[in-house]
Amino acid sequence: MTTRTVLIINAGSSSIKYALVDPDSGENLANGNVEKIGNPTGIITHKHDGEKFVVEEPVPDHGFGLSEVLRLFEEQGPSLKDANVVAVGHRVVQGGKYFSGPALIDDDVVARIEQLVPLGPLHNPAHLKGIAVARELLSDVPHVAVFDTAFFQDLPEEAARYALNREVADKYEIRRYGAHGTSHQFVSGEVSKMLGRDDLKQIVLHLGNGASVSAVVNGKAVDTSMGLTPLEGLMMGTRTGDIDPAAVFHLARVGGMSIDEIDHLFNRESGFKGLAGENDMREIWKLYEAGDQNTIDAVDVYIHRLLKYVGAYTAIMGGLDALTFTAGIGENDEFVRQHLLDRLAYMGIKYDHEKNLIVRNPDPRIISTEDSSIPVIVYPTNEELAIARQALTLI
Ligand code: ADP
Repeated sequence: MTTRTVLIINAGSSSIKYALVDPDSGENLANGNVEKIGNPTGIITHKHDGEKFVVEEPVPDHGFGLSEVLRLFEEQGPSLKDANVVAVGHRVVQGGKYFSGPALIDDDVVARIEQLVPLGPLHNPAHLKGIAVARELLSDVPHVAVFDTAFFQDLPEEAARYALNREVADKYEIRRYGAHGTSHQFVSGEVSKMLGRDDLKQIVLHLGNGASVSAVVNGKAVDTSMGLTPLEGLMMGTRTGDIDPAAVFHLARVGGMSIDEIDHLFNRESGFKGLAGENDMREIWKLYEAGDQNTIDAVDVYIHRLLKYVGAYTAIMGGLDALTFTAGIGENDEFVRQHLLDRLAYMGIKYDHEKNLIVRNPDPRIISTEDSSIPVIVYPTNEELAIARQALTLI
């Protein structure tokens, strides 16, 4: 079969991340990003064949940014003209109630994504810009939207519905949409293949700067920790995760804070950053080793929350057959895994200390021992490949 490729685009408000993927071999042929769009000091980084090309120039808008990326592909390789690009896959964070799978982008799909802006105010407007310029510049290939919420669109009502007044919740479409769905779907699917079983009760811990956990039964998501927005659930790099919503009333009434200030506080100044002053785990462990009490407390809160979700999801599923770690922290932080797994010894979970020490390794691995009650897996996520494969299902 001749090689075919999919170009993946993830447009943010001031950035465009991209990757060229061979969906059949899984190979990442090139990737890069455009940063600081709209800023006088834009930066474009293009990586290909182990080499990195950096261009620093003002990037006034997404259209210019993407045209520069296309120029770099032709100048530095691999040439898109020769790469047999069969689709462009766009990552879209919020697909609301409309999308339970990928969608071939036409004007109706664009209109739906636009309708969902109130539910994804930070992301969907940026995705729309990325989609518009990409459809213009790459007009001869199909464009597919792949939604972060799609895997959770069919959550059971008991997991998706909040116990908020029904009329109000339905009018404003307030329910659990989840996030990181592409990663949870990809990782749980790959774990099924790895273990050679479709009938699995799985927990997937996607632990990055943003973090979420999902419960997956026989390939279908039955619960996830992120909610209406990616603020709910686990403690994260800069986000609170679960917190009593009455804290908002209190900060507004007693603290005199505006809604925007509270939003910023919960999303950007909390989590590890708010408790320990740092949000990168490598820095966190340095402070921890130095005996910094705030950091030790922060780690305790983080592990407590993880433990609580693992227990809750095991109860919801009526058991657990596989526990998987993924994303930046899940794949690379042996201490987080160790702290959590030590606390799960009561479930009969046992892990190999040497195998747990493997980090920065792209290979999926089982880190539990033969006599562990269930397998514990580290499965590196690959959202680009997952988006590419989903895009292909429609063309
Ligand atoms: P996101 O996509 O949410 O930005 P990632 O999945 O890329 O997050 O994870 C980023 C986080 O992973 C970093 O903030 C850092 O805490 C953690 N991380 C990355 N590499 C390592 C490492 N070698 N050891 C420990 N933590 C790491």
